[in-house]
Amino acid sequence: MPELPEVETIKEDLRGLLVGSNIERAEVLDPSLVEQPSTEEFVGRLEGVVIAGARRRAKHLIVELDSGDSLVFQLKIGGQLLLVPPVGEPQTAQMLVLHLDGARRLFLRDETGFTRARLLDAGELEERLASLGPEPLEDGFGWEHLPREIGSRRAQIKPLLLDQKVVSGIGNIYVDEILYDARLHPRRKANTLSEGEWRALYDAIRSNLAAGVEHRGTTVRLYRDVLDRPGEHQNYLRVFEKHGEPCPEGCEGEVVQEKVGGRPTHFCPGCQRLSGGEQEQRLTFA
Ligand SMILES: [Zn+2]
Repeated sequence: MPELPEVETIKEDLRGLLVGSNIERAEVLDPSLVEQPSTEEFVGRLEGVVIAGARRRAKHLIVELDSGDSLVFQLKIGGQLLLVPPVGEPQTAQMLVLHLDGARRLFLRDETGFTRARLLDAGELEERLASLGPEPLEDGFGWEHLPREIGSRRAQIKPLLLDQKVVSGIGNIYVDEILYDARLHPRRKANTLSEGEWRALYDAIRSNLAAGVEHRGTTVRLYRDVLDRPGEHQNYLRVFEKHGEPCPEGCEGEVVQEKVGGRPTHFCPGCQRLSGGEQEQRLTFA
């Protein structure tokens, strides 16, 4: 599903293409798509409002409206937001259409049915975003954040990095690449990481997400930008869904796939050791 780099790409596209547009009419073809408020209220509050801005928080795409409301999209595995009419798809898969001025249309669709749209006022938006962890690409995100927040946890590092309360925007594709880069086994317990390993993890988070943004996202299956173009970062993946292939670092091992925390996980057992962490150098934030 879209992670930080994909949502960031869509947000930038919307900023460039949609700000200032008037929403003449909202058409909800599948009511299950609208989580909040009722379909009738959703349609009524969107009619005639102007798109004032677009921003991203974690994996939430937030379209700011001149009415003070925000249209919030959570694009799940099959979620696409398209400014070009989807072709060759049944009408039912085109779940929500915003009719804009200039005869343009913005389509939200999701063949898999997990994507949700919400229309929230300022208070509801703040509440919805309140529990999210820091943005890993922002200047204020330092290497100390993770050891301070989770350094004493005995939980496995991979599920902790996917927890949006710990850090925002990382999902199942980038996390495998990040852990490979940092040479951390996905089942390593957080409380066994050394300072050097926390710093390597921090660098890997920043560099992998920044590269994903630079390459306009990763398309392994359904992700598209708003003009229906795939991203390019899939060409740079080293372990995600590469099981059975040789380790790209040439350690003579092979990338494997195992379930960790219930998620398919790809790593090199040669480079990412389960035993590790110099115990004597463990960090304590008293
Ligand atoms: Zn290796």
